[in-house]
Amino acid sequence: MKDKMTQAAFNRLKDRTKLVYAGRDPWEQHGFVNTPIYRGSTVLAPTMEALLARSNRYIYGTLGTPTSDALESAWSAIAGAKGTVCVGSGLAACSLALLSCLKAGDHLLVTDSVYRPTRHFCEGFLKRFGVETTYFDPMIGEGIAALFKPNTAAVFTEAPGSQSFEVQDVPTIARIAHAHNATVIMDNTWATPFFFPPHEMGVDLAIEAGTKYLSGHSDLLLGLVSANERSWTALRDTYDAMAICAGPEDMFLALRGMRSMLLRLKEQEKAALDMAHWLKARPEVLKVLHPALPDCPGHEIWKRDFKGSSGLFSIILKPVSQKAVAAMLDDLALFGMGYSWGGFESLIIPFDCSTYRSVTKWEPGGPALRIQIGLEDVEDLKIDLDAGFSRLRAAG
Ligand SMILES: *Cc1c(COP(=O)(O)O)cnc(C)c1O
Repeated sequence: MKDKMTQAAFNRLKDRTKLVYAGRDPWEQHGFVNTPIYRGSTVLAPTMEALLARSNRYIYGTLGTPTSDALESAWSAIAGAKGTVCVGSGLAACSLALLSCLKAGDHLLVTDSVYRPTRHFCEGFLKRFGVETTYFDPMIGEGIAALFKPNTAAVFTEAPGSQSFEVQDVPTIARIAHAHNATVIMDNTWATPFFFPPHEMGVDLAIEAGTKYLSGHSDLLLGLVSANERSWTALRDTYDAMAICAGPEDMFLALRGMRSMLLRLKEQEKAALDMAHWLKARPEVLKVLHPALPDCPGHEIWKRDFKGSSGLFSIILKPVSQKAVAAMLDDLALFGMGYSWGGFESLIIPFDCSTYRSVTKWEPGGPALRIQIGLEDVEDLKIDLDAGFSRLRAAG
């Protein structure tokens, strides 16, 4: 934010304008527009007194640099948070958020639709340290009240689920969790704060895999955890205790990606909606799981709570052999097959939630594909998929 602008004036700006000015003070950088990459472990103190009093603005590399301050303050401004910390991956952000509010003997509630590696962290690491996890149906809503125990310390939500796309009622879950004095965590990677302002909606700790839309270019790994007043001190203390700071070059690239993040998101939103409707009309497609389309569980909640949709959604094909699906996917010219999403290039992967769900059944009725729409012309993408469907029919 510019020196000349007060916080109140900044808060009144529209999202697009905020993204241009957030986390930037050219006058601290000799007039250069961007905050550069500060690398460093040691930070020198001018006097012994300053060293002992730790009165310098910067003390040591793990405790923050102008580069990390720029990204963290920008993200806090965008997410409406008291504070933000950046770590080396989205998964590390999930783990850090959990570790900041749990201790041995606690009970944790986690959505059954959670990003699979987060489940692995709960089943392995947290269990070993004496935290018990209960999974809940993502569509549980008010019903979550029955799952609280006297020692329930946190609820982990993710809306929508990043493969199966159920949209949770986060405000209702947050209200009930707070009545039990539990911390509300949300993995908000899909919507980003632009389409779902997490802290306004009752979330205490919000996670963004910066690897996805913040990067936007599939060239870095980054995680952000933002906190409201209630959870900030515990988050910062846990982060400092582990010193799991993100690398300076990745943070710099994330700041660069942030300036165009909303433009990319809006393009990807538009193209993904176009593609979702096109796919819905295809004879090979049974269902389209896109929060903005009525087939998606929680579509009504999405309409109530979200300001937009991003470029990731799933489809269910009518029953067909795995060989036919492979014939479709293997020879796609534009869509790549690979994990992650949020970059400029389109991706497609098959998935099957039934192998790891524990309290809900995943019976979609046919093979499931997850699609990330990038920045290509959507007509080119349709031609690619159309040829894929021809191969699917020929092989099926
Ligand atoms: C990708 C992803 C993560 C993890 O991010 P990485 O940087 O790949 O570790 C976490 N949550 C969701 C919903 C994701 O899609």
